[in-house]
Amino acid sequence: MGNTIDLGCHTENTKLDHLHLSMSNGLTDWFISALVFSGSQLAKGEQEKRLIVWLAERDQSAVGAGTVGFSISDMPWNRETFFKDQSFLLTVIEHAKTGQGWRQFGALCPKHLLLPQLDQFAALISQFQCFDIQPSSFDEWLTQATEQDPVRCGFPLCPIHHTLLTVFGCQVCNHERSIHNLT
Ligand SMILES: [Zn+2]
Repeated sequence: MGNTIDLGCHTENTKLDHLHLSMSNGLTDWFISALVFSGSQLAKGEQEKRLIVWLAERDQSAVGAGTVGFSISDMPWNRETFFKDQSFLLTVIEHAKTGQGWRQFGALCPKHLLLPQLDQFAALISQFQCFDIQPSSFDEWLTQATEQDPVRCGFPLCPIHHTLLTVFGCQVCNHERSIHNLT
């Protein structure tokens, strides 16, 4: 079992069609936590926060282990802000690699496994093109959110980790709980 992330679109370069990353379930939790920590610190506007909340919703403790793989084209992109958002996510990934903000939480983190996956994720994000955006991904995701969903009520933060919450609570709190259950 594990999770796979790919582009979800066909590029003119067939080599890129095979570009993807695969992680064990345990590593996926670290991957998402690192991005959520970093992204929550850096996200400014609503669109940036939405992208981070969407990633935080890949919370295996809530939706099931091995079920959170996704395609970059599934993310709630907005054509109007695409280049800014793409650059934001690349900065989030770079910031995540420094371990800032989550270093303490990540004492058990297998960094030698995580860092190459973050690099590969940056490669995927870089390759994704504005014309590959599926407007339905954004609309369907937001339509499904209830009025109590954090994406509809001001993007609240976890009081412990200062990370953006999702409909499942704090992804980092949930991850921490699952680590303690395992050890
Ligand atoms: Zn938390």
